[in-house]
This record gives sequence, structure tokens and C-alpha cells, in this order.
Amino acid sequence: MSRKHIAQAIIDTCLKMNALGLNQGTSGNISARYQDGFLITPSGVPYEKLTPEQIVYINYSGEAEPDKIPSSEWHFHLSCYEARPELNAVVHNHAVNATAVSILNHGIPAIHYMVAVTGTDHVPCIPYSTFGTQELAESVKTGIKHSKALLMQHHGMIAMEASLEKALWLANEIEILAQLYLKILAVIGNSVERIPVLSSEEMQRVLVKFKSYGLKA
Ligand SMILES: [Zn+2]
Repeated sequence: MSRKHIAQAIIDTCLKMNALGLNQGTSGNISARYQDGFLITPSGVPYEKLTPEQIVYINYSGEAEPDKIPSSEWHFHLSCYEARPELNAVVHNHAVNATAVSILNHGIPAIHYMVAVTGTDHVPCIPYSTFGTQELAESVKTGIKHSKALLMQHHGMIAMEASLEKALWLANEIEILAQLYLKILAVIGNSVERIPVLSSEEMQRVLVKFKSYGLKA
């Protein structure tokens, strides 16, 4: 695909993310692998006003093309591409339910078999670091190796998949799981040990089945 096509696909994914209600203002950012790096949304431009020319290219050495300002959160996008060579797109947002769970500093346990969309048996929550820092990028790098989606403490979520379409689908699934988790906590109280979860044997069965499951591109 040409650069212009991928840039337009990033913009379309941003608009779909808004339509799904996952995004708060311009706090989300989206990227996709391109040549020896990736294309990412710029800093602070409302999605409705984005043009393909405004999408920023950053190479794997972390150098952005001149005269363009990438999203301030580009560091952890780069970490994702370094950590998961088989995956090609990253969606980040501050969706309300996922962010609420991140504030509790909980991962989402195996409350529903759909947690297997992460490629593991829960949705991990990585520790807080200031946005835009190398420290945060390092935590993301460690976390994303084990799970295609992460909660980021006091911040939001990241979802990484093979394509933009799949990454947005994954982000939406994580938000739904977070919503379910909060509903359960509301009933059960904040006593995590009382939350009913699927056994690790069952999650292993689901993870095997999920190798051929999911959004078909
Ligand atoms: Zn953010």
C-alpha cells in the first residue's frame, strides 16, 4: 500500500474510534507500520480535520520527518513495533472504562473467555510513568511482548494487532471487558479474590481455539 493509502486508513480508523465512543478529544493516537518505521497521527489535530499529508513518518531510530510534530506518545508506539515484529498497527486511547480499571491498577482477569483476544489469559495493567517518557515506552515494550492489549495505570489502553482494522476491533473488545469488569466490581465490591474467573485450563483451551478466531481481515 502507498503511504497515502495507509495515512488515509489511519484517519479512517481515528474517525471510527470516535464513533465507537472510545476516544476522549484528541487524547488517542493511532499508528501503522510503513517501510523502515511507522506512520502516526500528529499532535493535537482534531480527527475531523486530519489530512493524509499531516500524518507523520518516524523511522525505527525514532527520527521524525522534519516540520511535522508527531503525537507526544510516539515513543511507546515505537516500542510496540520493536517488541512485536509480526504485528503492524497500534491503537491507543483513554476510553472511560479501560481507564477506570487502570486507575484501580487492576489487570482484567479471566472473567470472560474473550480476554483471550490479548493472546493470553488476562489483560495486564502496566505501572504508571509520565506520558511521553522513555520509562513508559520501556514498560509498554515489556508488557506488549506478553499481551496484544495493555491497560496503562492512570492513563488508558493500548491495542496492537496485525492491521488497523483488527487493532481497533481489539481496543473495542478491551473496553467492553473493562465495562463488564466494573459492573462485577460494583456488585462484589473491591475484593478481587471473590471475582469469579475461568480456570487456567479453560483459558488454555480457549487460547488454542482463538488461533483461528477473531476479526477476519
Ligand atoms: Zn495517552
